[in-house]
Amino acid sequence: MATRICPACGKAEGSNARCRPCRDAAARELADHARDVTVESLGDRAAQGERFAERPPWYVRFAPLQLVLQVRLLAAALRDWRSGAYREIPWSAVAILAAALAYVVSPVDLIPDFLVPVGWTDDLVVLAVAWRTVKQQLRAYCAWKGLTAGRYGL
Ligand SMILES: [Zn+2]
Repeated sequence: MATRICPACGKAEGSNARCRPCRDAAARELADHARDVTVESLGDRAAQGERFAERPPWYVRFAPLQLVLQVRLLAAALRDWRSGAYREIPWSAVAILAAALAYVVSPVDLIPDFLVPVGWTDDLVVLAVAWRTVKQQLRAYCAWKGLTAGRYGL
């Protein structure tokens, strides 16, 4: 999605958090991917997120700390949902979170974002959209898990 130019702001589509059409493009992308999320895939997705956050690939050094923290939180939430420890997040929200995690983690395995001009900006927009959509549930999850929600931008 980062290769198209946004007609509204002139930047790579989906890369500008302050641009409504960019946020809408990111939301559509998330919704598309969320439809493909299965319960069975949550364990693998959580593991991917944990690797990304705990043993970051070298190029993650260029990512904002907030992004790494958010990936860690997503991985924990998916892991706890998968195991049945915490199921207060409805499936539709879990699917959005799993899609956001995959979006941030997977593409960098193929083309490090830092090698393309948009850097991490499109990942941050996707996370911002997911955060907006699932904010209440993530806050509740943090409270249950004993985490400080503000640390994760909630
Ligand atoms: Zn735009």
